[in-house]
Amino acid sequence: MKINPNFQHRLVLFCGPSGSGKTTIVHHLMTVFPQMRFSISATTRERRPNEEHGRDYYFLSPDEFRQRLARGEFLEWEEVYKDRFYGTLKSEVERILAGGHIALFDVDVEGGLQIRKHFGRQLLDVFVMPPSVDDLHKRLVARATESEESLFRRLDKAEKEMKYAFRFNHVIVNRVLEDARREAELMVRNFLSEEIPDPEEPA
Ligand code: 5GP
Repeated sequence: MKINPNFQHRLVLFCGPSGSGKTTIVHHLMTVFPQMRFSISATTRERRPNEEHGRDYYFLSPDEFRQRLARGEFLEWEEVYKDRFYGTLKSEVERILAGGHIALFDVDVEGGLQIRKHFGRQLLDVFVMPPSVDDLHKRLVARATESEESLFRRLDKAEKEMKYAFRFNHVIVNRVLEDARREAELMVRNFLSEEIPDPEEPA
């Protein structure tokens, strides 16, 4: 299966380290743009008490994930550490685009770079940056949904990911959440109002 978006399809990608505030921004965008649909990722991590299968993630066992991987069902995927997988299902993106909606991604940096390769001007890519590594540490500790070991892994990964901001076309530094949300909203509004020429039509 191959994803073949036509020139009218639009996709919006928010990515950045865990703790950068990208998920909060993404939730905000979902309330502002009714034509957007969140691309629900698949993961093998434990479901948190406030999460629902099919709303926040598709929660799969590592074996199920591997089987679907072998069938080529993922647009991008990652094994963050042994048996901890995250990935975007092609079927998810196709479903959203076929319904005439805008796909909204909230993935980590590696996933974001993969997704960028698949789409051209139809994709708005935004990297959300915490103001500093210290700040990122504070946010991740305050969130404390994780065991200490997992927290250290996240901190380590997040620090590395911050170095990839320059690979993205747009960067938002999340100092004050309210401002970051407004900035994201404006970026999306501008992107959606841009005309993308039909490559089939003569200029
Ligand atoms: P969490 O476990 O806190 O929900 O997410 C951990 C990290 O995985 C976050 O940075 C999140 O954005 C990222 N993530 C979520 N879904 C995907 C996905 O489909 N692919 C990739 N590569 N990363 C994802």
